[in-house]
Amino acid sequence: MAKQNKESRCSFCHSGKHETLMLIEGMDAFICDKCVTQANQLLAQELGTKNTKNIQDAISLLKPLEIKQHLDQYVIGQDDAKKVLSVAVYNHYKRLNQKVDKDEIEIEKSNIMLVGETGTGKTLLAKTIAKILHVPFCICDATVLTEAGYVGEDVESILTRLLQAADYDVAAAERGIVYIDEVDKVARKSDNPSITRDVSGEGVQQALLKILEGTVVNVPPQGGRKHPDQKMIPVNTNNILFICGGAFDGIERKIANRLRTQAVGYKVKKDDTVLDLKNLYKYITPQDLKSFGLIPELIGRIPVLSHLNPLDKESLRNILTAPKNSLIKQYVKLFAYEEVDLLFEDDVLDFIVDKAMEYKLGARGLRSICEAIMLDAMFDTPTQTDVKELHINLDYAIEKFEKADFKKLQAA
Ligand code: ADP
Repeated sequence: MAKQNKESRCSFCHSGKHETLMLIEGMDAFICDKCVTQANQLLAQELGTKNTKNIQDAISLLKPLEIKQHLDQYVIGQDDAKKVLSVAVYNHYKRLNQKVDKDEIEIEKSNIMLVGETGTGKTLLAKTIAKILHVPFCICDATVLTEAGYVGEDVESILTRLLQAADYDVAAAERGIVYIDEVDKVARKSDNPSITRDVSGEGVQQALLKILEGTVVNVPPQGGRKHPDQKMIPVNTNNILFICGGAFDGIERKIANRLRTQAVGYKVKKDDTVLDLKNLYKYITPQDLKSFGLIPELIGRIPVLSHLNPLDKESLRNILTAPKNSLIKQYVKLFAYEEVDLLFEDDVLDFIVDKAMEYKLGARGLRSICEAIMLDAMFDTPTQTDVKELHINLDYAIEKFEKADFKKLQAA
């Protein structure tokens, strides 16, 4: 090992010990604090270019059609939303690599709003997109957000989550995707300005404006409230893609009202009057979001608007079996670990779907119903070493389902 004596010098820049703050000793060499800092910067630069390259690679590999095909493997139906998302994400990442040309045309950010009943696949779509593109992704819930200074979480906490998802790699986080769930819950509570501040509604919308648009935000690395002594990490939100989702309960009425008033107007063509009343979401426009209580400035910063269709029986049946990691495939895998062949008879699958429809549990309910049916089998099988096959038939499914506490399922 090298001896640290009066003549010790940095092996990289030859600074003597007295010229440096610190000289770190290695096996046969020394390195000074300045060279460590320099090396660190070089490394950060290199990693930064690698990141850009990864994204460039992803884009050169995945065209909108291919992004949609990937989504098709995991998400059933929802073709409109998939198409809109694929194009928006593709354009967004093209924008990340844009060079400011002489023509000064700058592609603007296109945050996305997904509107659809709960459990129709909004989060799943956002999650799947992030997985395809290998970028940091986080989900946050708009209901816990409040205006700074009030009980609840500051809007910056969204970025803390993203930083955590990126392992505190700021450059990666700055190209990530954030899914803001239940954004409808921050709708303005009433049209009249009231004497009490609307800290969880309009206040949050105002706070969201800045980060959605693109700005440098000082983020508390561990989350929680900001306090003066805390070290902050500056995060530039300019290239972060925000996908907002919400059920906007009751917005159908507003859409219907708008369509009705249009329908009596003289501009409407005859064929426009045939409306799909079961799925009014598909006629949604930014105007409806405004009547629901989103402020126009926020709507303006989320220019891409798409809807998800309610799931019918056929879609639910497909969700059970078709996606790459469908529920049924997951159960089969769980039992395969015990070396047991698991098989669901077709009428059991129909039964599960019927119950999910009957109790209006949607796709989320499929899992609770399956759990109710499979609980006993999952409890017993690991100790029954002689069982090699398990066929779930309708009688078995009905018996187990009826045994389960139904109220618990409804709350799912
Ligand atoms: P939300 O629209 O409320 O965000 P989620 O995306 O969280 O709904 O869906 C809840 C669960 O339901 C998902 O984890 C997924 O298993 C299932 N699911 C919902 N919609 C679909 C769909 N279109 N295709 C496949 N699975 C779906």
